[in-house]
Amino acid sequence: MTQINELAARVKDLEGQLLVCTRCGMCQSVCPLFEQTGREADVARGKLALLSGMISKIFSEPDGVNERLNRCLLCGSCADNCPSGVNVIEIFIRARAILTDYKGLSLFKKMIFRQMLANPRIFNAMTGWASKFQDLLIRSNRNEQATSCARFVSPLIHDRHFMPMAKHPFHKTLEKMQVRSTGSGVKVLLFTGCIIDKIMPHIAVASVKVLSHHNVGLTIPETQGCCGIPALASGDAKTFNFLTAYHLDRFEKEDFDYLVTACATCTSTIKKLWPTLYSGHNPSVTESARNLAAKTMDINQFLTDVVKTAPQKETKDDGPVVTYHDPCHLKKSLGIFKQPRQLLTAAGYQLTEMEDADKCCGMGGSFNLLHYDISSSIGSLKQENIADTGCDTVASGCPACMIQISDMLSRSSSRIKVRHPVELYARSLEPGK
Ligand code: SF4
Ligand code: SF4
Repeated sequence: MTQINELAARVKDLEGQLLVCTRCGMCQSVCPLFEQTGREADVARGKLALLSGMISKIFSEPDGVNERLNRCLLCGSCADNCPSGVNVIEIFIRARAILTDYKGLSLFKKMIFRQMLANPRIFNAMTGWASKFQDLLIRSNRNEQATSCARFVSPLIHDRHFMPMAKHPFHKTLEKMQVRSTGSGVKVLLFTGCIIDKIMPHIAVASVKVLSHHNVGLTIPETQGCCGIPALASGDAKTFNFLTAYHLDRFEKEDFDYLVTACATCTSTIKKLWPTLYSGHNPSVTESARNLAAKTMDINQFLTDVVKTAPQKETKDDGPVVTYHDPCHLKKSLGIFKQPRQLLTAAGYQLTEMEDADKCCGMGGSFNLLHYDISSSIGSLKQENIADTGCDTVASGCPACMIQISDMLSRSSSRIKVRHPVELYARSLEPGK
């Protein structure tokens, strides 16, 4: 009974935030999910209306409420276009956590989040083993996007063209790298993030190269883990709280001016969710999270605004053409969109804009796993817009968006490469490039 009362109190708390929504419907025209399904229940207004009645339904129809809440990319397009300033993402995430606390976490998610994600050493060991044996189950597509497919019919993978796990994750490569811990005075702690560490370590290598080139002092703590967003988005606040406190404790011992990441989702999570959605029992964590958020920066922003990178190459009219996809977690969440473009220009690329560059690519984390049909329909629109520019390369500041875009381009047999701006900038620093 105590738990029910506590949950009811949390739902009541949410109701205050729900009152801000005037049901104007402005969020409808920008919701990528609504564009595909045309269902009012999929748009923010519909979900907020559902949540208003949740206090009664949470106990009578928890599965139905959960199902509707989970049909969301958490892209923030609705919040970005909301004239009343409704904090839609925070409301949805809090509601998912309430429902999970009521229903309980499935055994599968418990294993993934609480046994693996919450234990960086175990996570590293398990993904290390998986990367060794993955070739038995997958085959390389040998294409520009470096994607693979399942060798056998798989209900989990379907016909995805996905990026395989790296044979040498960044945390292993780091052991052999010379990292300059002192520099021109600016000290950076580099937060790697799971996707970059385990699937795209070359982005972290490029980040180290670029930061070292600009004489930045670097600290890269070992046994960094996940920022916690996959767990939180699935309603597992316990794992999110644990990972937030774990990292704050690890980083408190380090001396740095900025925490920098090359992952848009990690940046947004550390800046916006660690300070506001930590709900564990240690109040000092929230204070530390606020302090850390103030010095956390996306790498494009850090290089452009703090390091003030000068153009390395002259842009030539016949030079390589790049287009840029704005990750929702950079542009809509943090307002960062000029800096990655400036970095691409500094790297000598001709920038050509695609239509709807800031429209969601359809990835949405677990949404892609649960609703691949809708996710890939949204992704196909992005792929068409990219192809229409006639570019050689599409850049994006979010590894999750890069996975989705690679899948879409690979499935359409495109030769367009997918790169992070920092990779292209790092390449421009190489002699003769
Ligand atoms: S969430 Fe914002 S944009 Fe959407 S209906 Fe409510 S007030 Fe309007
Ligand atoms: S977060 Fe994105 S997908 Fe979810 S309701 Fe808002 S606009 Fe639609």
